[in-house]
Amino acid sequence: MSERLIITRPHYFTDTKSNCGYCSGQKERNEDYYCLDSWYAASTGSNIENCTMGFQAELMSVEIYGRLCDMGYRRSGKFLYKVDMVRNCCRLYTIRTTPDQVSITKEFKSTLKRFRKQIKPSGDGKRHDGGPFNYIREVLETETSAKDFKTCFEPAVFTDEKYTLFAKYQEHVHNDFKHNAKSFKRFLCDSPFSKETILGTKEEWDQLNNWKVMAPGEKLKRQGPAHECYYYKDELIAIAVTDFLPSGISSVYFIWDPEYHRWSLGKLSALRELCITSKTNLDFYYMGYYIDDCPKMNYKAKYGGELLDVCTQRYVPLVRLNELKSPGKLFTVEEHPAKAEGELPLNKALAHPVGRLDGAERLENTVEKIYGPNGGAYQDAIDSAKALSRIGIPYAVDERPFGMAESKHKDDETYVIPNVVPGLVPLKEILEMVLHGDINSLQNNVTFFDMYEGNIRQLQSFSNESPEIKRTLCDVIRLIGLENTKGVLLLL
Ligand SMILES: [Zn+2]
Repeated sequence: MSERLIITRPHYFTDTKSNCGYCSGQKERNEDYYCLDSWYAASTGSNIENCTMGFQAELMSVEIYGRLCDMGYRRSGKFLYKVDMVRNCCRLYTIRTTPDQVSITKEFKSTLKRFRKQIKPSGDGKRHDGGPFNYIREVLETETSAKDFKTCFEPAVFTDEKYTLFAKYQEHVHNDFKHNAKSFKRFLCDSPFSKETILGTKEEWDQLNNWKVMAPGEKLKRQGPAHECYYYKDELIAIAVTDFLPSGISSVYFIWDPEYHRWSLGKLSALRELCITSKTNLDFYYMGYYIDDCPKMNYKAKYGGELLDVCTQRYVPLVRLNELKSPGKLFTVEEHPAKAEGELPLNKALAHPVGRLDGAERLENTVEKIYGPNGGAYQDAIDSAKALSRIGIPYAVDERPFGMAESKHKDDETYVIPNVVPGLVPLKEILEMVLHGDINSLQNNVTFFDMYEGNIRQLQSFSNESPEIKRTLCDVIRLIGLENTKGVLLLL
Protein backbone atom coordinates (compact mmCIF):
# COMPACT_ATOMS: atom_id res chain seq x y z
CA MET A 1 0.00 0.00 0.00
CA SER A 2 1.34 3.38 -0.86
CA GLU A 3 1.57 5.85 1.96
CA ARG A 4 -0.93 8.61 2.20
CA LEU A 5 0.07 12.05 0.97
CA ILE A 6 -0.91 14.78 3.42
CA ILE A 7 -0.32 18.34 2.19
CA THR A 8 -1.51 21.89 2.65
CA ARG A 9 -2.99 23.75 -0.26
CA PRO A 10 -0.40 25.32 -2.58
CA HIS A 11 1.01 28.73 -1.76
CA TYR A 12 2.75 31.31 -3.90
CA PHE A 13 5.15 33.67 -2.20
CA THR A 14 7.13 36.65 -3.30
CA ASP A 15 9.99 38.36 -1.61
CA THR A 16 12.37 41.11 -2.68
CA LYS A 17 15.25 39.90 -4.81
CA SER A 18 17.70 41.21 -2.26
CA ASN A 19 16.56 38.24 -0.16
CA CYS A 20 17.30 35.77 -2.97
CA GLY A 21 19.76 33.26 -1.53
CA TYR A 22 21.58 33.10 -4.86
CA CYS A 23 21.84 36.56 -6.47
CA SER A 24 20.96 38.71 -3.41
CA GLY A 25 19.67 41.22 -5.96
CA GLN A 26 23.30 41.98 -6.86
CA LYS A 27 23.44 41.05 -10.54
CA GLU A 28 25.45 43.51 -12.58
CA ARG A 29 22.94 44.06 -15.36
CA ASN A 30 19.22 44.53 -14.91
CA GLU A 31 18.44 42.34 -17.93
CA ASP A 32 20.04 39.38 -16.19
CA TYR A 33 17.11 39.12 -13.79
CA TYR A 34 14.71 38.44 -16.65
CA CYS A 35 13.86 34.94 -17.83
CA LEU A 36 14.32 36.06 -21.45
CA ASP A 37 15.95 39.08 -23.11
CA SER A 38 12.72 39.61 -25.03
CA TRP A 39 10.88 40.08 -21.75
CA TYR A 40 13.45 42.60 -20.65
CA ALA A 41 12.98 44.51 -23.91
CA ALA A 42 9.20 44.40 -23.51
CA SER A 43 9.17 45.25 -19.83
CA THR A 44 8.00 48.57 -18.54
CA GLY A 45 10.10 48.54 -15.46
CA SER A 46 8.28 45.66 -13.82
CA ASN A 47 9.81 44.63 -10.60
CA ILE A 48 11.53 41.29 -10.69
CA GLU A 49 11.19 39.50 -7.42
CA ASN A 50 11.93 36.24 -5.76
CA CYS A 51 8.90 34.07 -6.62
CA THR A 52 8.44 30.65 -5.06
CA MET A 53 5.57 28.23 -4.85
CA GLY A 54 5.04 25.11 -2.85
CA PHE A 55 3.26 23.40 -0.02
CA GLN A 56 3.89 21.91 3.36
CA ALA A 57 3.91 18.10 3.32
CA GLU A 58 2.98 16.50 6.63
CA LEU A 59 3.32 12.98 5.24
CA MET A 60 4.75 11.73 1.99
CA SER A 61 6.31 8.53 0.69
CA VAL A 62 9.84 8.49 -0.65
CA GLU A 63 8.45 7.31 -4.04
CA ILE A 64 6.27 10.40 -4.39
CA TYR A 65 9.06 12.66 -3.21
CA GLY A 66 11.32 11.11 -5.85
CA ARG A 67 8.72 11.87 -8.50
CA LEU A 68 8.39 15.47 -7.27
CA CYS A 69 12.18 15.91 -7.43
CA ASP A 70 11.91 14.96 -11.08
CA MET A 71 9.34 17.76 -11.47
CA GLY A 72 11.74 20.36 -10.15
CA TYR A 73 10.81 20.37 -6.46
CA ARG A 74 13.20 20.36 -3.55
CA ARG A 75 12.47 20.15 0.12
CA SER A 76 13.51 22.27 3.04
CA GLY A 77 12.44 20.21 6.03
CA LYS A 78 8.77 19.47 5.32
CA PHE A 79 8.31 22.31 2.86
CA LEU A 80 8.36 21.42 -0.85
CA TYR A 81 9.03 24.24 -3.26
CA LYS A 82 10.17 25.35 -6.66
CA VAL A 83 10.55 28.78 -8.20
CA ASP A 84 8.42 30.40 -10.84
CA MET A 85 10.87 30.25 -13.74
CA VAL A 86 9.25 33.18 -15.58
CA ARG A 87 9.02 35.69 -12.74
CA ASN A 88 11.86 34.73 -10.43
CA CYS A 89 15.13 36.64 -10.47
CA CYS A 90 17.15 33.44 -11.05
CA ARG A 91 16.55 30.26 -13.06
CA LEU A 92 16.91 27.25 -10.78
CA TYR A 93 17.28 23.99 -12.69
CA THR A 94 17.23 20.56 -11.14
CA ILE A 95 20.57 18.96 -11.97
CA ARG A 96 21.52 15.32 -11.74
CA THR A 97 24.47 13.32 -12.95
CA THR A 98 25.77 9.77 -13.02
CA PRO A 99 29.07 8.41 -11.68
CA ASP A 100 30.42 7.78 -15.17
CA GLN A 101 29.71 11.29 -16.43
CA VAL A 102 32.24 12.88 -14.11
CA SER A 103 35.43 13.71 -15.88
CA ILE A 104 38.22 13.82 -13.40
CA THR A 105 39.98 17.13 -13.67
CA LYS A 106 43.24 18.21 -12.09
CA GLU A 107 41.23 19.96 -9.42
CA PHE A 108 39.39 16.78 -8.41
CA LYS A 109 42.58 14.75 -8.53
CA SER A 110 44.34 17.11 -6.18
CA THR A 111 41.32 17.13 -3.82
CA LEU A 112 41.53 13.35 -3.61
CA LYS A 113 45.29 13.38 -3.24
CA ARG A 114 45.10 15.89 -0.40
CA PHE A 115 42.46 13.77 1.29
CA ARG A 116 44.69 10.72 1.00
CA LYS A 117 47.59 12.61 2.53
CA GLN A 118 45.49 13.88 5.43
CA ILE A 119 44.02 10.58 6.44
CA LYS A 120 46.98 8.33 5.62
CA PRO A 121 49.92 10.42 6.77
CA SER A 122 51.98 7.31 7.43
CA GLY A 123 51.77 6.16 3.83
CA ASP A 124 53.84 7.67 1.06
CA GLY A 125 50.73 9.30 -0.48
CA LYS A 126 51.15 7.36 -3.68
CA ARG A 127 48.83 4.91 -5.30
CA HIS A 128 50.14 1.42 -5.76
CA ASP A 129 47.62 -0.13 -8.06
CA GLY A 130 48.97 1.38 -11.27
CA GLY A 131 46.63 1.84 -14.23
CA PRO A 132 44.64 4.96 -15.14
CA PHE A 133 43.28 7.18 -12.38
CA ASN A 134 39.84 6.09 -11.25
CA TYR A 135 38.20 8.30 -8.64
CA ILE A 136 35.94 5.55 -7.29
CA ARG A 137 38.84 3.20 -6.72
CA GLU A 138 40.84 6.07 -5.25
CA VAL A 139 38.17 6.86 -2.62
CA LEU A 140 37.64 3.20 -1.77
CA GLU A 141 41.32 2.49 -1.38
CA THR A 142 42.01 5.61 0.66
CA GLU A 143 39.16 5.08 3.10
CA THR A 144 39.45 1.35 3.51
CA SER A 145 42.89 1.54 5.03
CA ALA A 146 42.50 4.82 6.94
CA LYS A 147 42.64 4.50 10.71
CA ASP A 148 41.62 8.01 11.78
CA PHE A 149 38.85 8.75 9.30
CA LYS A 150 35.44 7.14 9.10
CA THR A 151 31.89 8.05 8.17
CA CYS A 152 28.64 6.70 9.46
CA PHE A 153 25.15 6.87 8.01
CA GLU A 154 22.43 7.31 10.60
CA PRO A 155 18.84 8.57 10.91
CA ALA A 156 18.37 12.29 10.29
CA VAL A 157 17.67 13.13 13.91
CA PHE A 158 18.80 15.99 16.10
CA THR A 159 21.80 15.76 18.42
CA ASP A 160 23.61 18.53 20.27
CA GLU A 161 26.87 17.50 18.62
CA LYS A 162 25.37 17.98 15.14
CA TYR A 163 23.88 21.33 16.08
CA THR A 164 27.21 22.56 17.48
CA LEU A 165 28.88 21.79 14.15
CA PHE A 166 26.01 23.42 12.22
CA ALA A 167 26.32 26.59 14.33
CA LYS A 168 30.07 26.78 13.69
CA TYR A 169 29.56 26.24 9.96
CA GLN A 170 26.77 28.82 9.59
CA GLU A 171 28.70 31.45 11.53
CA HIS A 172 32.08 31.02 9.86
CA VAL A 173 31.08 30.10 6.34
CA HIS A 174 27.77 31.94 5.88
CA ASN A 175 28.12 34.71 8.42
CA ASP A 176 24.73 33.65 9.80
CA PHE A 177 24.23 34.23 13.49
CA LYS A 178 20.46 33.93 13.49
CA HIS A 179 20.34 30.14 13.71
CA ASN A 180 19.09 28.19 16.71
CA ALA A 181 18.58 24.55 17.58
CA LYS A 182 14.95 24.72 16.45
CA SER A 183 15.77 26.13 13.01
CA PHE A 184 18.49 23.52 12.53
CA LYS A 185 16.01 20.77 13.38
CA ARG A 186 13.33 22.18 11.10
CA PHE A 187 15.73 22.64 8.19
CA LEU A 188 17.94 19.55 8.32
CA CYS A 189 16.27 16.96 10.55
CA ASP A 190 12.54 17.29 9.86
CA SER A 191 11.12 15.64 6.75
CA PRO A 192 7.69 14.70 5.42
CA PHE A 193 8.41 10.98 5.69
CA SER A 194 6.81 8.58 8.19
CA LYS A 195 8.53 7.81 11.46
CA GLU A 196 9.29 4.26 10.25
CA THR A 197 10.90 5.64 7.10
CA ILE A 198 12.96 8.18 9.04
CA LEU A 199 14.23 5.69 11.60
CA GLY A 200 14.68 2.79 9.15
CA THR A 201 15.73 -0.70 10.24
CA LYS A 202 19.03 -2.01 11.52
CA GLU A 203 19.32 -4.10 8.37
CA GLU A 204 18.98 -1.01 6.16
CA TRP A 205 21.63 0.98 8.04
CA ASP A 206 24.01 -1.99 8.25
CA GLN A 207 23.85 -2.54 4.51
CA LEU A 208 24.26 1.19 3.80
CA ASN A 209 27.20 1.51 6.18
CA ASN A 210 28.86 -1.33 4.30
CA TRP A 211 28.32 0.30 0.90
CA LYS A 212 31.95 -0.26 -0.04
CA VAL A 213 31.42 -4.01 -0.24
CA MET A 214 27.99 -4.17 -1.86
CA ALA A 215 27.82 -6.62 -4.75
CA PRO A 216 27.17 -5.37 -8.28
CA GLY A 217 23.41 -5.38 -8.83
CA GLU A 218 22.60 -5.76 -5.10
CA LYS A 219 19.56 -3.67 -4.26
CA LEU A 220 19.98 -0.93 -1.68
CA LYS A 221 17.36 -1.36 1.04
CA ARG A 222 17.57 2.13 2.52
CA GLN A 223 15.11 4.68 1.14
CA GLY A 224 14.61 7.95 2.94
CA PRO A 225 16.62 10.69 4.62
CA ALA A 226 20.04 10.13 6.20
CA HIS A 227 22.81 12.01 7.91
CA GLU A 228 26.26 10.81 6.94
CA CYS A 229 28.56 11.90 9.75
CA TYR A 230 32.26 12.32 8.98
CA TYR A 231 34.67 11.69 11.87
CA TYR A 232 38.35 12.45 12.05
CA LYS A 233 40.11 11.15 15.15
CA ASP A 234 36.65 10.55 16.63
CA GLU A 235 35.64 14.16 16.21
CA LEU A 236 32.62 15.08 14.08
CA ILE A 237 34.00 17.21 11.23
CA ALA A 238 31.19 17.15 8.63
CA ILE A 239 27.61 16.03 8.01
CA ALA A 240 26.13 15.25 4.62
CA VAL A 241 22.35 15.52 4.68
CA THR A 242 21.00 13.28 1.93
CA ASP A 243 17.82 11.60 0.74
CA PHE A 244 17.98 8.09 -0.66
CA LEU A 245 15.42 8.01 -3.48
CA PRO A 246 14.43 5.06 -5.68
CA SER A 247 16.34 6.61 -8.58
CA GLY A 248 19.37 7.85 -6.71
CA ILE A 249 20.94 9.92 -3.98
CA SER A 250 19.76 13.47 -3.50
CA SER A 251 22.13 15.82 -1.78
CA VAL A 252 20.24 18.14 0.57
CA TYR A 253 22.95 20.07 2.42
CA PHE A 254 26.52 19.73 3.54
CA ILE A 255 27.98 21.10 6.76
CA TRP A 256 31.71 21.09 7.51
CA ASP A 257 34.03 22.28 10.19
CA PRO A 258 35.75 25.48 8.99
CA GLU A 259 38.95 24.36 10.70
CA TYR A 260 39.19 21.69 8.00
CA HIS A 261 38.73 24.05 5.08
CA ARG A 262 41.99 22.82 3.51
CA TRP A 263 40.41 19.42 2.95
CA SER A 264 37.93 20.83 0.35
CA LEU A 265 35.28 18.78 2.08
CA GLY A 266 32.48 20.09 -0.18
CA LYS A 267 34.16 18.76 -3.32
CA LEU A 268 35.19 15.61 -1.54
CA SER A 269 31.63 14.93 -0.38
CA ALA A 270 30.28 15.22 -3.94
CA LEU A 271 32.91 12.78 -5.23
CA ARG A 272 32.23 10.42 -2.33
CA GLU A 273 28.48 10.56 -2.92
CA LEU A 274 29.05 9.72 -6.57
CA CYS A 275 31.10 6.71 -5.42
CA ILE A 276 28.27 5.71 -3.08
CA THR A 277 25.75 6.09 -5.93
CA SER A 278 27.88 3.74 -8.00
CA LYS A 279 28.59 1.15 -5.30
CA THR A 280 24.97 1.03 -4.08
CA ASN A 281 23.85 0.42 -7.66
CA LEU A 282 21.73 3.55 -7.87
CA ASP A 283 21.38 5.46 -11.12
CA PHE A 284 21.61 9.18 -10.40
CA TYR A 285 23.21 11.69 -8.11
CA TYR A 286 20.92 14.70 -7.61
CA MET A 287 22.89 17.82 -6.77
CA GLY A 288 19.97 20.16 -6.07
CA TYR A 289 19.65 23.28 -8.16
CA TYR A 290 21.97 24.51 -10.85
CA ILE A 291 22.06 28.22 -11.73
CA ASP A 292 24.17 29.33 -14.72
CA ASP A 293 24.90 32.82 -13.52
CA CYS A 294 25.56 32.04 -9.88
CA PRO A 295 29.13 31.06 -8.94
CA LYS A 296 27.81 29.39 -5.78
CA MET A 297 25.73 27.02 -7.94
CA ASN A 298 27.31 26.75 -11.38
CA TYR A 299 30.32 24.75 -10.16
CA LYS A 300 28.00 21.75 -10.34
CA ALA A 301 28.47 21.56 -14.10
CA LYS A 302 31.97 20.24 -13.35
CA TYR A 303 30.37 16.93 -12.43
CA GLY A 304 28.73 16.58 -15.85
CA GLY A 305 25.06 15.79 -15.94
CA GLU A 306 21.72 16.98 -17.20
CA LEU A 307 19.17 19.69 -16.41
CA LEU A 308 15.46 19.15 -16.02
CA ASP A 309 13.31 20.84 -18.65
CA VAL A 310 10.25 21.42 -16.46
CA CYS A 311 8.04 22.20 -19.45
CA THR A 312 8.50 18.82 -21.12
CA GLN A 313 9.39 16.77 -18.06
CA ARG A 314 12.64 15.53 -19.60
CA TYR A 315 16.29 15.81 -18.66
CA VAL A 316 18.58 17.36 -21.26
CA PRO A 317 22.36 16.86 -21.13
CA LEU A 318 24.25 20.05 -20.28
CA VAL A 319 26.54 19.57 -23.26
CA ARG A 320 23.59 19.74 -25.62
CA LEU A 321 22.14 22.79 -23.91
CA ASN A 322 25.26 24.85 -24.43
CA GLU A 323 24.32 25.83 -27.96
CA LEU A 324 20.56 25.95 -27.31
CA LYS A 325 20.17 28.33 -24.43
CA SER A 326 21.61 31.58 -23.17
CA PRO A 327 23.23 31.54 -19.74
CA GLY A 328 20.79 32.28 -16.94
CA LYS A 329 17.75 32.16 -19.20
CA LEU A 330 14.70 29.94 -19.42
CA PHE A 331 14.65 27.11 -21.94
CA THR A 332 12.41 24.34 -23.15
CA VAL A 333 13.46 22.03 -25.94
CA GLU A 334 11.65 19.90 -28.46
CA GLU A 335 12.79 17.67 -31.24
CA HIS A 336 13.23 19.67 -34.40
CA PRO A 337 11.02 20.67 -36.15
CA ALA A 338 9.06 21.66 -33.06
CA LYS A 339 5.29 21.75 -33.05
CA ALA A 340 4.53 23.84 -30.02
CA GLU A 341 3.25 27.37 -30.11
CA GLY A 342 1.39 27.21 -26.82
CA GLU A 343 2.17 25.44 -23.56
CA LEU A 344 2.85 21.74 -23.94
CA PRO A 345 0.57 19.24 -22.23
CA LEU A 346 2.19 18.07 -19.05
CA ASN A 347 -0.29 16.06 -17.03
CA LYS A 348 0.33 12.71 -18.73
CA ALA A 349 4.08 13.12 -18.51
CA LEU A 350 3.77 13.70 -14.76
CA ALA A 351 2.18 10.27 -14.33
CA HIS A 352 5.19 8.55 -15.90
CA PRO A 353 8.83 8.28 -14.96
CA VAL A 354 10.71 11.35 -16.10
CA GLY A 355 12.16 11.21 -19.61
CA ARG A 356 15.66 11.84 -20.92
CA LEU A 357 16.93 13.26 -24.16
CA ASP A 358 20.12 11.36 -24.62
CA GLY A 359 19.91 10.48 -28.27
CA ALA A 360 21.13 12.37 -31.28
CA GLU A 361 17.84 14.17 -32.07
CA ARG A 362 18.09 17.61 -33.52
CA LEU A 363 16.75 19.89 -30.83
CA GLU A 364 15.17 23.30 -30.88
CA ASN A 365 14.73 25.72 -28.00
CA THR A 366 11.06 26.74 -28.29
CA VAL A 367 10.98 29.02 -25.30
CA GLU A 368 10.22 32.22 -27.27
CA LYS A 369 7.34 30.63 -29.15
CA ILE A 370 5.77 29.53 -25.90
CA TYR A 371 6.84 31.88 -23.10
CA GLY A 372 8.19 34.94 -24.93
CA PRO A 373 6.13 38.19 -24.78
CA ASN A 374 4.25 37.05 -27.91
CA GLY A 375 4.27 33.38 -27.00
CA GLY A 376 1.21 31.20 -27.31
CA ALA A 377 1.00 30.40 -23.60
CA TYR A 378 -0.68 33.65 -22.57
CA GLN A 379 -3.60 33.69 -24.99
CA ASP A 380 -4.28 30.02 -24.21
CA ALA A 381 -4.31 30.84 -20.53
CA ILE A 382 -6.68 33.79 -21.01
CA ASP A 383 -9.13 31.64 -23.01
CA SER A 384 -8.90 28.81 -20.49
CA ALA A 385 -9.31 31.08 -17.45
CA LYS A 386 -12.45 32.58 -18.99
CA ALA A 387 -13.88 29.14 -19.78
CA LEU A 388 -13.05 27.79 -16.30
CA SER A 389 -14.66 30.82 -14.74
CA ARG A 390 -17.84 30.29 -16.76
CA ILE A 391 -18.18 26.77 -15.35
CA GLY A 392 -17.74 27.95 -11.78
CA ILE A 393 -14.00 27.57 -11.22
CA PRO A 394 -12.76 31.04 -10.38
CA TYR A 395 -9.65 31.71 -12.45
CA ALA A 396 -9.42 35.41 -13.24
CA VAL A 397 -7.90 36.59 -16.49
CA ASP A 398 -4.28 37.26 -15.70
CA GLU A 399 -3.32 40.64 -17.10
CA ARG A 400 0.20 40.31 -15.83
CA PRO A 401 1.85 37.51 -17.75
CA PHE A 402 5.01 38.85 -16.29
CA GLY A 403 6.26 40.52 -13.15
CA MET A 404 5.12 40.27 -9.61
CA ALA A 405 1.83 38.61 -8.81
CA GLU A 406 -0.67 41.17 -7.67
CA SER A 407 -3.74 39.36 -6.47
CA LYS A 408 -3.81 37.88 -3.04
CA HIS A 409 -5.97 35.30 -1.34
CA LYS A 410 -8.41 36.99 1.00
CA ASP A 411 -7.66 34.86 4.01
CA ASP A 412 -3.91 34.56 4.37
CA GLU A 413 -2.23 37.23 2.27
CA THR A 414 -0.39 34.72 0.06
CA TYR A 415 -0.57 35.28 -3.67
CA VAL A 416 -2.74 33.58 -6.23
CA ILE A 417 -0.67 31.34 -8.51
CA PRO A 418 -0.27 33.08 -11.90
CA ASN A 419 -2.06 31.45 -14.83
CA VAL A 420 1.12 30.72 -16.77
CA VAL A 421 3.98 29.10 -14.88
CA PRO A 422 6.42 26.82 -16.73
CA GLY A 423 6.36 23.36 -15.22
CA LEU A 424 2.80 23.55 -13.88
CA VAL A 425 0.00 21.71 -15.66
CA PRO A 426 -1.35 24.35 -18.12
CA LEU A 427 -4.84 25.74 -17.49
CA LYS A 428 -5.83 24.46 -20.92
CA GLU A 429 -5.30 20.91 -19.71
CA ILE A 430 -7.13 21.58 -16.44
CA LEU A 431 -10.10 22.79 -18.47
CA GLU A 432 -10.06 19.63 -20.60
CA MET A 433 -9.86 17.50 -17.45
CA VAL A 434 -13.01 19.14 -16.12
CA LEU A 435 -14.90 19.11 -19.41
CA HIS A 436 -14.03 15.48 -20.23
CA GLY A 437 -14.69 14.30 -16.68
CA ASP A 438 -11.16 13.03 -15.96
CA ILE A 439 -11.23 15.09 -12.80
CA ASN A 440 -14.00 12.83 -11.48
CA SER A 441 -11.36 10.15 -10.88
CA LEU A 442 -10.69 12.10 -7.69
CA GLN A 443 -14.14 11.27 -6.31
CA ASN A 444 -13.81 9.34 -3.03
CA ASN A 445 -10.11 9.60 -3.65
CA VAL A 446 -9.32 12.95 -2.04
CA THR A 447 -9.94 13.80 1.62
CA PHE A 448 -10.32 17.28 3.04
CA PHE A 449 -9.41 18.14 6.58
CA ASP A 450 -10.69 21.52 7.66
CA MET A 451 -8.26 22.58 10.36
CA TYR A 452 -10.47 25.42 11.63
CA GLU A 453 -13.70 23.46 11.81
CA GLY A 454 -11.94 20.23 12.73
CA ASN A 455 -13.99 18.15 10.30
CA ILE A 456 -12.82 15.59 7.82
CA ARG A 457 -14.65 14.48 4.69
CA GLN A 458 -14.13 12.85 1.33
CA LEU A 459 -14.58 14.49 -2.02
CA GLN A 460 -17.93 13.21 -3.28
CA SER A 461 -18.64 15.06 -6.45
CA PHE A 462 -16.35 17.69 -7.90
CA SER A 463 -19.25 19.58 -9.45
CA ASN A 464 -20.98 19.99 -6.08
CA GLU A 465 -17.99 21.58 -4.40
CA SER A 466 -17.72 25.29 -3.67
CA PRO A 467 -15.85 27.46 -6.18
CA GLU A 468 -12.96 27.88 -3.69
CA ILE A 469 -12.54 24.14 -3.21
CA LYS A 470 -12.69 23.57 -6.96
CA ARG A 471 -9.99 26.15 -7.53
CA THR A 472 -7.84 24.74 -4.72
CA LEU A 473 -8.08 21.23 -6.17
CA CYS A 474 -7.24 22.49 -9.65
CA ASP A 475 -4.21 24.29 -8.21
CA VAL A 476 -3.04 21.08 -6.53
CA ILE A 477 -3.33 19.30 -9.88
CA ARG A 478 -1.41 22.12 -11.57
CA LEU A 479 1.42 21.60 -9.10
CA ILE A 480 1.66 17.80 -8.88
CA GLY A 481 -0.49 16.36 -11.70
CA LEU A 482 -3.80 14.46 -11.54
CA GLU A 483 -2.28 11.04 -10.84
CA ASN A 484 -0.31 12.22 -7.80
CA THR A 485 -3.39 14.03 -6.46
CA LYS A 486 -5.22 10.71 -6.09
CA GLY A 487 -5.19 9.70 -2.44
CA VAL A 488 -4.24 13.16 -1.17
CA LEU A 489 -5.42 14.38 2.20
CA LEU A 490 -5.65 18.12 1.82
CA LEU A 491 -5.33 20.36 4.85
CA LEU A 492 -7.58 23.38 4.43
ZN1 LIG B 1 17.99 35.61 -7.55
